[in-house]
Amino acid sequence: MLITPGPDLRYLAGYDAVPLERVTCLVVPTDGDPVLVVPGLERAAAEASPLASAGVPILTWAETDNPYALVASLVPTARRVGVDDHMWAVKVLRLRAAMPDVEQEPAGLVLSTMRMRKSRDELEALRRAAAAIDAVHDQVPDLLRMGRTEREVGRDIAALILEAGHVSTDFVIVASGPNGASPHHEVSDRILRMGDPIVVDIGGTMPDGYCSDETRTYALGDPGPEYLHAYAVLLEAQRMATNGVRPGVPCEEIDTLARDHLTSHGLGDLFIHRTGHGIGLETHEDPYIVQGNALPLEPGMVFSIEPGFYAEGRWGARIEDIVACGDDGAVVLNQQPRDLIVVG
Ligand code: ZN
Ligand code: ZN
Ligand code: ZN
Repeated sequence: MLITPGPDLRYLAGYDAVPLERVTCLVVPTDGDPVLVVPGLERAAAEASPLASAGVPILTWAETDNPYALVASLVPTARRVGVDDHMWAVKVLRLRAAMPDVEQEPAGLVLSTMRMRKSRDELEALRRAAAAIDAVHDQVPDLLRMGRTEREVGRDIAALILEAGHVSTDFVIVASGPNGASPHHEVSDRILRMGDPIVVDIGGTMPDGYCSDETRTYALGDPGPEYLHAYAVLLEAQRMATNGVRPGVPCEEIDTLARDHLTSHGLGDLFIHRTGHGIGLETHEDPYIVQGNALPLEPGMVFSIEPGFYAEGRWGARIEDIVACGDDGAVVLNQQPRDLIVVG
């Protein structure tokens, strides 16, 4: 496998290198020891990583060397290589040119199945990330006032995400009123009005690389009986899906539990995305909680459960928790209340 900077390198080697045009590549042969290839100017950074202390040899290349030929020379008998799912296309193509008879496949075929099953340490890391984003949601009601724009609220939330211990703010969705009908709306200059439901979906990355992701829906004043009824159905759908989590249950079954409940209340057509995604060193990774994914849940899998409804031109709602599959049920990592939080 040929692993370049990104979550797979961080997962395998603890080396958080920045993806740049110069080639950094962990070469993992089928037999024998791995070797890390780095540009000469990054030797010091590589030597400070856990890889070096684990005794992985570091090979450097100079500015006028061909790093692709160097990588190829380390696996002279390879017939197939797994290339990092996040490897830049230009590097994939240059490796192909340097190893013309070698078949390339996604390394993710192997790595995603490893990364999907979280260790005890990883579960703790995701628990810390969940607590950090809970602490942000706890302060969101204070930011929602009539006359403020989504963008102003979003800027405040971004600062709180960092204050809560994340090293980066990865996304901030503040979707008020009709903007809530677009699941990936970010922020706009729309001014918050009385009666608006407001979907707030936020996340960041912690210093150890693990990600947070949590959605709560707020309302500025009373959003009216039709919305309140739909929200109650959604809350029940999210709870039913969560209660369905246990080892052996296919991923798609969790989606079915949420979807069927919304459908039975006439909201199925408004639930326009899958129920969830795995989370770890990336916000979106395997396993996906989607129809067609028959993969059985296993203890240690961690994913979101985030059903929603989206009515074009009117409003939207989503409730999202990060959930771990435990030995006999769901372990919900986010602790914030899931009820509609009415402000003002
Ligand atoms: Zn989210
Ligand atoms: Zn999510
Ligand atoms: Zn019901």
